[in-house]
Amino acid sequence: MTRPPGLPAKLEHFIGGASVPSADGATFDVADPVTNVPYATVAAGGAEDIGRAVAAAAAAFRDGPWPGLPARPRARILNQIADAIEGRADRIAELETFDTGLPVTQARGQAARAAENFRFFADMTVTLHEDAFRSASTQFGYVIRQPAGVAGLITPWNTPFMLETWKLAPALAAGCPVVLKPAEWTPLSASLLPEIMTEAGLPDGVFNLVHGIGEVAGAALVAHPGVPRLSFTGETTTGQTIMAAAAPHLKGLSMELGGKSPCVIFADADLDQAVDSALFGVFSLNGERCTAGSRILAERGIYDALVTRLAERARRIRVGDPADPATEIGALVHPEHYARVLGYVRAGQDEGARLVAGGVRPDQLAGGNYLAATVFADVTAGMRIFREEIFGPVVCVTPFGDEAEAIRLANATAYGLAAYIWTTDLARAHRVAGAIESGMTWVNSHNVRDLRTPFGGVKASGLGREGGSHSLDFYTDSRIVHIPLGDTQVPRFGA
Ligand code: NAD
Repeated sequence: MTRPPGLPAKLEHFIGGASVPSADGATFDVADPVTNVPYATVAAGGAEDIGRAVAAAAAAFRDGPWPGLPARPRARILNQIADAIEGRADRIAELETFDTGLPVTQARGQAARAAENFRFFADMTVTLHEDAFRSASTQFGYVIRQPAGVAGLITPWNTPFMLETWKLAPALAAGCPVVLKPAEWTPLSASLLPEIMTEAGLPDGVFNLVHGIGEVAGAALVAHPGVPRLSFTGETTTGQTIMAAAAPHLKGLSMELGGKSPCVIFADADLDQAVDSALFGVFSLNGERCTAGSRILAERGIYDALVTRLAERARRIRVGDPADPATEIGALVHPEHYARVLGYVRAGQDEGARLVAGGVRPDQLAGGNYLAATVFADVTAGMRIFREEIFGPVVCVTPFGDEAEAIRLANATAYGLAAYIWTTDLARAHRVAGAIESGMTWVNSHNVRDLRTPFGGVKASGLGREGGSHSLDFYTDSRIVHIPLGDTQVPRFGA
């Protein structure tokens, strides 16, 4: 992959409207996943930098126009942010592809979605209303919705720009100034956010960006008492650490965590579509996708034929240069993550699963974090590759006998983020959708989002929901004011 022209040699924080290095001058190197050679030096934030960013955001909350801005001018700026993203969509996709190894065609889709995140919440801002309650003819109550304060946003390295905007848009729409801590493996596309926000006219101090290592900069943001809301997307174990660290401050938390989502295919399904969807569901975005359908459960009557079809198609999936528009799977984000995914391939073989496609570096790709699309068949519920999130281009296929067994297997992991069901039996589709423990279920379709709907998981996949009004509820406090409509009847203690 060629290096994009004009790559910045160093990336800095953005605090109070200005680019700044770390207070102590600390930096870390970041590499691309094709050469694994460092391409830039990134400011490594610490508690002092987080402190400065929170102070800037707190000042914008206390003194600035943003929290109290009427809906229409606020929405106008959010739409201008969307315009600024659309104006740079090719550049965003180019940098994202270089930094993460995501195929460029898919990175372009994510850039378009990033703009849509802002347009959607701009629309929500102007249509937002508050509740009022009348109790018979005696009392009237109305809700005052207010931005909660400074929001801390901590994001992962998979589809980084899209996920950053998925948190930024509702937080800003709600009137909250923010401190964003992007993932340390993929800081590049976030470095475009300062110019995007400035060009759109967002007041200084409302958007703050602190780069850094999770256990240092992220932990400092979690522990800062001036940040009442924290929205986190990442691994379940990190989420547990963050919840414990936030507990003494009683912060509001939104936790979007890991997944091991089932794709359940019954014998009566449209198998052509089910195969297309199952492959896309687990191999798009390099399999580094929280909602990946990484466990295919197939009814026994079609199991052998399905395994053969999945394996044949997987062998033809084009793995290669992420910048090549023909590429379907690019390079995995980081050598450490690549080693972890390869460790799962070995674990699958050691535990007796049948490797029917991939499992190795493609012959023609000597360097870079490349793995061929990998399919394991005959995977049983006790195997690690069935239970643990691999977060790479690896799928498990498991047979089931009947509906009850399909449901039992679907629920046999700690996670509960997404589920996909393929059947032409309408009643069964509803039954199974109700019985599978997942935050989001798609019947006879793949993961297409409607931004109004609740996004999030059950069990170890998370707490809280984002999307539409759920996001705005999270970033605001609703207060109720009660007023009597006549004489107030008060019990007269001590009269
Ligand atoms: P991660 O948990 O390692 O890191 C996520 C972010 O948390 C990074 O910015 C990191 O620097 C920061 N962090 C790490 N330790 C921290 C700490 N102690 N305190 C504060 N911040 C800390 O996750 P990752 O490897 O970057 O991302 C992959 C994971 O994210 C997968 O498990 C995937 O399923 C999950 N994910 C979930 C969703 C969802 O919506 N449910 C979406 C995308 C990704």
